[in-house]
Amino acid sequence: MYKELYPGIFHIEIPLRNNPLKALNCYVLKGEESLIIDTGFDTEENRTILFEALKLLEIDPRKTRLFLTHLHSDHTGLAAYLAREGVKVYMGEVDGDFLKNSLHEDSPHWVHIKEMSLAQGMEEDKLEISLHPGFRFRPKELPPLINTAAGDTFSVGDYNLEVLDLPGHTPGLQALYEKKRGFLFSGDHLLMSITPNITFWGEEYGDSLGIYLENLDKLTKMNITQIFSSHRELPQDHLSRIKELKDNHQERLDEIRKFLKELGPSTVRDITKKMTWDIRAKGWEDFPSAQKWFAAGEAHAHLRHLKELGEVKEEKRDGIIYFSLR
Ligand SMILES: [Zn+2]
Repeated sequence: MYKELYPGIFHIEIPLRNNPLKALNCYVLKGEESLIIDTGFDTEENRTILFEALKLLEIDPRKTRLFLTHLHSDHTGLAAYLAREGVKVYMGEVDGDFLKNSLHEDSPHWVHIKEMSLAQGMEEDKLEISLHPGFRFRPKELPPLINTAAGDTFSVGDYNLEVLDLPGHTPGLQALYEKKRGFLFSGDHLLMSITPNITFWGEEYGDSLGIYLENLDKLTKMNITQIFSSHRELPQDHLSRIKELKDNHQERLDEIRKFLKELGPSTVRDITKKMTWDIRAKGWEDFPSAQKWFAAGEAHAHLRHLKELGEVKEEKRDGIIYFSLR
């Protein structure tokens, strides 16, 4: 049910059904005032597992804080249930505001996602928000959130954790850093076996891939002895993993440069269809809707990064964005 990784630091594995991430690594630091990091989806199964584990760990919810690393529903889904038991919920302002704006289908976030998919040229895919995984599993209710900012600290026993801003995977992802021991609770910023999804969030959030890559570099300059990542196995050699992730994105960028050369002005959809995806489908038509959303977002982030690098320009015609090499 749970495992003690270091004195007072517990790991609870929360299964994520039918999801390539497989499970969420939920961490609990036990002390006078305990700290939970991330929750799992808003499903009965996840709720039962988390609450059972907390009970076995003898965590008193009224003396417990919950820190949410970022807005994704596998991290935030159970926040409202914990809050109802007396847990105080902390989260960065940027992702917190996103959550507040995404509770309903007609909330600004989903309206924006729909508009963006049209601008990406995806009209003919007839994507429905109701099939968007982020929408399907979104927290339906939000507890009061206490905003955290870089430099804020959480103390649990001997551990003193500092909030770090590491945006990229989401516009406001925050991590917790125990400087003395070199422990980093990284959320989805760095994962083994899977490349953290980098998507385009809209022009107001700019070049998310560029921001992400910069924040990967940030880790190389820090004293880190252990990364507690949110999915899969814990990284042992984070420096070589960072290099791998950066290489993956460079390969992606090269692939896109090649397609833009071949195709000329292209929509996000044109490029997405040509890219290599790690999914078992015969062609674009066989892609499940959920994967189409993800793939297009990822392609868009890479195109937007090429624009930032000055290699690509974009032009909007009839509401659709066309990218071409400069
Ligand atoms: Zn995530």
